[in-house]
Amino acid sequence: MLYLDNSATTQIHPEVKDAMLPFLMEEFGNPSSKYYLVAENAKNAVKKARSALGSLIGSKDSEIIFTSGSTESNNMIIKGVADFHSDKGKHIITTKVEHPSVLETCKYLETKGFEVTYLDVDEYGRILLDDLRNQIKKNTILVTIIWGNNELGSLNDIKAISELCLQKNVFFHSDATQVIGKIKINLSDYPGVTFLSCSSHKFHGPKGIGAAFIREDQYHILTMITPLLHGGGQEQGIRSGTLAVHNIVGLGKAAEIAINSISENIQKINKLEKYLISILKDKFSNQIHFNNDNDNKIPGVISIQFKGINNEVLVKSLAPIVAVSTGSACSSSKPSHVLSAIGLTIDEVIFTVRFSLSSFIKEEDLDIFKQL
Ligand code: PMP
Repeated sequence: MLYLDNSATTQIHPEVKDAMLPFLMEEFGNPSSKYYLVAENAKNAVKKARSALGSLIGSKDSEIIFTSGSTESNNMIIKGVADFHSDKGKHIITTKVEHPSVLETCKYLETKGFEVTYLDVDEYGRILLDDLRNQIKKNTILVTIIWGNNELGSLNDIKAISELCLQKNVFFHSDATQVIGKIKINLSDYPGVTFLSCSSHKFHGPKGIGAAFIREDQYHILTMITPLLHGGGQEQGIRSGTLAVHNIVGLGKAAEIAINSISENIQKINKLEKYLISILKDKFSNQIHFNNDNDNKIPGVISIQFKGINNEVLVKSLAPIVAVSTGSACSSSKPSHVLSAIGLTIDEVIFTVRFSLSSFIKEEDLDIFKQL
């Protein structure tokens, strides 16, 4: 089976598996314990992984808080800012094309008395900077905008948004789940990004582990938020719970691999994408339409309408040979809110399938589409 659903999740890199295994067996220590070897080994392994992720995103190690993944990071940051900073204001700005872990959190906060502005997006799912500028008010405490869209791959202009939020003195969170390990990001170039979320399974690491980046101020104090999980005080008191060392080690290895291979992978995946598009165009010509922008997007994410074909039927019939999805894996039971927000009609949404590539794919694997 050809796996083309890498925006939903990716396969674990073999080196990630090898790095994790000892921490499921002999290296079982709790990194919060002291003095004896398995605890020290676990502590050092967590330190190394934190450092690898820090290098991948260009943050300090102390700015990384391990979580169970982006759903938790998004919840922790948005609810945590809302709770801690509500005396400064109760207005949050987001977009109509966020992942449900952002949208549902914002909707929940509306029930608790917060006002949320949901920005419109352009035809490719990007916000317009002027819209954001016009919506920032005195009582705005947080802007939360996705870095790269999970259905269309479009990248927002995070540099400009970061600068605007810095200038307006508003916290800025970006859900970077789909871009970490896929495009080069150095957070020191984005001083206005206060918070960021990521999940390891999107870049060939294990599931159930991710991180929140929380920026430190000039006194090395993390931006204050109310924790989601109270307890033993791990992760600087922001995320309690015994650390999942094996998963953290896997995330760290995946980050290390991404650092070393990102340039090569971008080139490879862009080449694969061009090849796949050429096959599809040859085969289906005017029966298909591409929803995604070709520029300024995550490599390897394609959103295509197969005109007249119900996407559920298509995905199901392709399933024995090619794994693709109708859009985001999390919302496949309802028509995509992302595609509706970019102005597609309900029919166009229902014709849409997402293909997402990875560096594990070989060009000849894609020839399968010639035989369909
Ligand atoms: N944000 C985005 C943009 C995503 O694509 C996903 C995963 N589909 C998430 C958040 C949630 O990640 P996880 O399921 O790993 O918590």
